Amino acid sequence: MSNQDTTYSCSVLAMPKLYAERSRLWRERHPDRYAVVLANDREHKRKLYWERRAAWIASQGGKCVKCGGTDRLECDHIVRNGKVGHSIWHWSQARRDAELLKCQVLCHECHLTKTMAENKVDPSYRRKYEREIYVGA
Ligand SMILES: [Zn+2]
Repeated sequence: MSNQDTTYSCSVLAMPKLYAERSRLWRERHPDRYAVVLANDREHKRKLYWERRAAWIASQGGKCVKCGGTDRLECDHIVRNGKVGHSIWHWSQARRDAELLKCQVLCHECHLTKTMAENKVDPSYRRKYEREIYVGA
């Protein structure tokens, strides 16, 4: 066995570009199969989102730190630092763990109350505000 007669048609540095181009051609030729790949990817991400979120909530005691409730638990940034949204659950473990150190578990109602106070929203706008900011965070 010898690798001496192996010839490379392109440099190693060109490989990512070549791969991207072949990948693009494959997607164009097989839109139906690519749709399946995308759907599987979405399903995988959805699963990761719920699993990681549930595991973190359980690790925090599985209840709201304000009222002790166990219904509709959410991840709250103790000090607001911009919208992170759903994406945190898809970050690398190290980055996610660092961010989650700044978070606490709140039930939906306590989370809404806290967010409204932080944003100085009139309490009479509670349900309207809820619809505007929450999409199952
Ligand atoms: Zn609560």
